[in-house]
Amino acid sequence: MIKTKLLDKYADARAEMILLLKERGIADESVLKAMSEVERHLFIPLPLRNHAYDDAALPIGEGQTISQPYTVAIMTEELHVKELDKVLEIGTGSGYQTAILAAMGIRVFTIERLPGLLKTAKQVLESLNVRFVSKMSDGTIGWREFSPFDGILVTAGAPEIPKPLIEQLKVGGKLVIPVGSQDFQQMKIVTKVDENNRCEIIDKADFKFVPLIGKEGWHEDDSR
Ligand code: SAH
Repeated sequence: MIKTKLLDKYADARAEMILLLKERGIADESVLKAMSEVERHLFIPLPLRNHAYDDAALPIGEGQTISQPYTVAIMTEELHVKELDKVLEIGTGSGYQTAILAAMGIRVFTIERLPGLLKTAKQVLESLNVRFVSKMSDGTIGWREFSPFDGILVTAGAPEIPKPLIEQLKVGGKLVIPVGSQDFQQMKIVTKVDENNRCEIIDKADFKFVPLIGKEGWHEDDSR
């Protein structure tokens, strides 16, 4: 352990990132602890690693991005999940959000539609001994086999809330999803209130995500 700390030249930058998250209002200790432990730079392409702890989204290839630390923190906090809960993540991307959830003791199921990104993310996560279950697929239809979930996190912007995701939530569970145009989206916190898939929806601030592409999302030929 001590050896890892000495070799971790990013430890100070990571501590500063945590301070900034606190200043911006992130208060959930389990989220802050996970984000102070997981080495974000390992999920960033080498040439950009010096920016790994900036509060910014960064390119990870194939036109996709790793979400900025504040966005990861607020989405995870809004899920209100705890150790051993089951969470479905749509959009594995770099694998960073997967690692954060796993560090919180959550059982993570993650879906990515681009094979190249999933391959790289799996390699990084496996090298860190992160426990997760993943598949390459269209996440807009969820993952019925492992449902119902305590929480569902969508890390790409949707035109509307995909129905299958509500169906695959437990009653009382939350779906955190950015919804809007392809240019910007409003973060929605959707709580399933009964077995008939009725929901309460709270709108949060605006964000900008890459598009969620799939059956219940944007279609590949939708013009931007
Ligand atoms: N959670 C990621 C963020 C990645 S960006 C991270 O921590 O790095 C969003 C990702 O969603 C992209 O990799 C994109 O390819 C993926 N995506 C878009 N539509 C999808 C769909 N229908 N199913 C699964 N993944 C999707």
